[in-house]
Amino acid sequence: MEPLIQILKRAPNGLAQGWLYLPAKQPWQPDTLGQIIDVDTLPDDQIDEDEEPLIAAELGLVATLESAMIESIVASASQLAEPLTDELLLESFQYYYDYDAFLPYSGYQPPSLETWQQQRDRDFYDCLGQERIDQPCKNSTCQRGAIEGSVFCKVHHFEMIQHKPCPFSD
Ligand SMILES: [Zn+2]
Repeated sequence: MEPLIQILKRAPNGLAQGWLYLPAKQPWQPDTLGQIIDVDTLPDDQIDEDEEPLIAAELGLVATLESAMIESIVASASQLAEPLTDELLLESFQYYYDYDAFLPYSGYQPPSLETWQQQRDRDFYDCLGQERIDQPCKNSTCQRGAIEGSVFCKVHHFEMIQHKPCPFSD
């Protein structure tokens, strides 16, 4: 076991292959103890039925991110500040874990999950393209035209793919 901050600091020199296991209980601190474990190299009698190492369950650890990803996170963080601080390293790691994205800058506050979902929905809707005037939407009550590659208009195509009402019409 090794403090999280030490693992992050070692990342530029390359980490062992595997996943970083950290305590299930958050928040993680610089001195939180973790371990990189490569499940593929463990003998079968050290892995449970969920393909998780037995040692992780014993120590109350969960898989967080793959070591190659951690190397990328640290490389990305090092572009943000010179010199790279422990705080920024930890912030970058936590941000990626929470949002699946590289921290844009120190102190960045992401939009709420709800706002983020709305934005994703909007982006999806916008990328559906133009509705064709000469190809009516297959929904019999609908007056709109079908988009390219679909029998439905933007609204009904959205609802078919996303399995929820479409909040947009323009
Ligand atoms: Zn329609």
